[in-house]
Amino acid sequence: MVDVIWAERKSPVLLPSSLSCLAQIPSINLTAGCAHGCIYCYARGYSSFPGENKVVIYKNTLDKLRSELLRKRNKPRAVYFSPSSDIFQPIPEMLELSHLVLAFLLSNDIGVAFLTKGRIPDKTLSLLISHADKVRAQIGIITHSDYIRSIFEPNAASIDGRLEQMAKMVAGSIATESRVIPILPGITDTPDSINALFQAIASAGVKRAAISTLFLRPAIMESLRRYTSNKDLVDNLLDYYRDVRRLPVHAEHSSVRPLPRAKREEIYSRFKRIAKNYAIDLSICGCLNLDIGGNCNITGEWPAQDIQLRMFDQKG
Ligand code: SF4
Repeated sequence: MVDVIWAERKSPVLLPSSLSCLAQIPSINLTAGCAHGCIYCYARGYSSFPGENKVVIYKNTLDKLRSELLRKRNKPRAVYFSPSSDIFQPIPEMLELSHLVLAFLLSNDIGVAFLTKGRIPDKTLSLLISHADKVRAQIGIITHSDYIRSIFEPNAASIDGRLEQMAKMVAGSIATESRVIPILPGITDTPDSINALFQAIASAGVKRAAISTLFLRPAIMESLRRYTSNKDLVDNLLDYYRDVRRLPVHAEHSSVRPLPRAKREEIYSRFKRIAKNYAIDLSICGCLNLDIGGNCNITGEWPAQDIQLRMFDQKG
């Protein structure tokens, strides 16, 4: 399915983010590229993207992380996984690495926040539940329909699998939220679709969700056109972006096409109205919607404290 490439990591493991929503705690990417292959994935436009169906796993991550933390005077309260990949991709070696890194951090009282569309292995779920107060989970789920999921997120976990996982995390006292990003206009923003999704999320016991529409970038547009298994559906989606103003993203030498503000506000108010019926507290991603504002709580809340790293064994 994907080409797995093992590589030595040269740059630091813990990285700060320029995004204000990720500024509180450092981030870790365990891989470059992501086996989930979402065709709307913004990371396709990054210089670190290794190419279609390729995943680079950094084999020295745990050793490097251990020595980086030992050198730090103040340990981070928590770390966030992962700004441009997913911590639970369907690659056994990668899932094992994820487990070891999580076990190492949690056993040293460092919290973990993650956003995933993957299936969390049972032993890792048990590990997370056994440190529930140190875990903040966001589950990406943009639709209740596994058919739509299979078109836009071909290798990610099934919708039922994600819902089941959310319910287990809530039952295990993990702070669990859902992330309905990106909303695909004309596909996932109809009242029926929103109702079905929020009903499913509420049934899993999740009470908070973050939303944003798709912000179209050149790499995403190309991917949507090239890798879709339903051309009509994607053509219909791209029609919404046909005449919108393109905004430059200077830092990335790229551009982005947002839906007009009035259209986004109309969509968000529809989501908010329906979310209320299911007692789901909704927030808008303000990093994407700079003109509207909002806080999607992507890393969760962490109390300020200095953490001293315990002595730990070499297996982490
Ligand atoms: S799970 Fe996230 S990082 Fe992975 S392909 Fe999908 S959107 Fe991209």
